[in-house]
Amino acid sequence: MIEQWQKDIKDSIDDAETLEKVLGVPASEVREIIEKYPLRITPHVLKTIQTKGDALWKQVVPSVDEGQEDAACASEDPLHEAEDSPVPNLVHRYPDRVLLFVTNQCPIYCRFCTRKRFVGSPGTITPTELKQVLDYISAHTEIRDIILSGGDPLMVVDMLLERILKGLRAIPHLEIIRLGTRVPGTLPSRITENLCQMLKQYHPVYMNLHFNHPNEITPEVAKACGMLADAGIPLGSQTVLLEGVNDDPAVMKQLMQKLLAIRVKPYYIYQADLVQGTHHFRTRVEKGLKIISALRGHTSGMAVPHLVIDAPGGGGKVAILPQDTLLYVDDDQAVVKNYEGKRFRYPQPTAAQETESPSGAQENTELFKGLALSFVPFHDE
Ligand SMILES: *Cc1c(COP(=O)(O)O)cnc(C)c1O
Ligand code: SF4
Repeated sequence: MIEQWQKDIKDSIDDAETLEKVLGVPASEVREIIEKYPLRITPHVLKTIQTKGDALWKQVVPSVDEGQEDAACASEDPLHEAEDSPVPNLVHRYPDRVLLFVTNQCPIYCRFCTRKRFVGSPGTITPTELKQVLDYISAHTEIRDIILSGGDPLMVVDMLLERILKGLRAIPHLEIIRLGTRVPGTLPSRITENLCQMLKQYHPVYMNLHFNHPNEITPEVAKACGMLADAGIPLGSQTVLLEGVNDDPAVMKQLMQKLLAIRVKPYYIYQADLVQGTHHFRTRVEKGLKIISALRGHTSGMAVPHLVIDAPGGGGKVAILPQDTLLYVDDDQAVVKNYEGKRFRYPQPTAAQETESPSGAQENTELFKGLALSFVPFHDE
């Protein structure tokens, strides 16, 4: 039986001629780009595009900019995922968690994708490959967390997804299973009662959903997220900071607030990776920091995600924070600045109480040595 979501995939825009007919983009301009980097726009996403060149358009409509050379974005695999892959489809970079590529298929093909090198090409994990992956995880008892990714793990049929989940759940030391997916926000018809019933058999299951703009949160998407949350799946969000899409504190604040309202807890905002064909989406790091400053204190702490740089070369995710909140720290006190720019003193417990001071505090003491404190009044006085 063909399900509605499969019909929606069939009805998606995936070639230059249809794109020209529906959105007026000259086929001759983007045909070559699409051959290299596949195109897919679901009917749902098409509906959410409001104007030519808006935030949704930029994410899904191919552009000639993707063919431009850029020295910084010359790599197809800037995170060196291939190097950290002990068996096909698996990336083992961190001590206790692994990333599994389930399929190369996605509901849409985001023009800025970090995995532009393979998304959209045919390919879903085979039974033999799955067995290799399960054997590897079974043999590595330090692995307690797996992220199903791709491509998008919700692009496979329930039966295959369940086979994977069942195999994973048979491994006693694997504590949590996460799914990283853009499906709920772009192909909400995929979130069916059957899927939710199936997923809840394999708890603890978490999901991190990809959202980049408040316009993505439609009534259909809200309903899909509600169904997943009702199935007991804690929902988090991941957002990529993108030039001309969401590089604006007001837009990001609205996105984070809207996510919370549909029961999705903001988790990560990423600085865009150095991927070939995506240079035009990159923003300066200061912009990300400014966005975090505009969120912290100004809205619910629940709405403030971690801003991360996925270190080029495979260094992993590094969280970065605005550097201006801890003004001073020594043996006796710390001085902090709040979101309104007011200063506050936090007295330290006496140094003798501490067995060993964490290295960070030591560095900070060095960093702030000699800083004059008296030039601005404190707000606890
Ligand atoms: C992002 C990522 C993870 C998960 O990282 P968390 O910070 O735990 O969410 C795991 N493995 C790889 C290779 C990743 O890129
Ligand atoms: S859904 Fe995710 S993996 Fe797929 S194209 Fe978009 S960013 Fe890439």
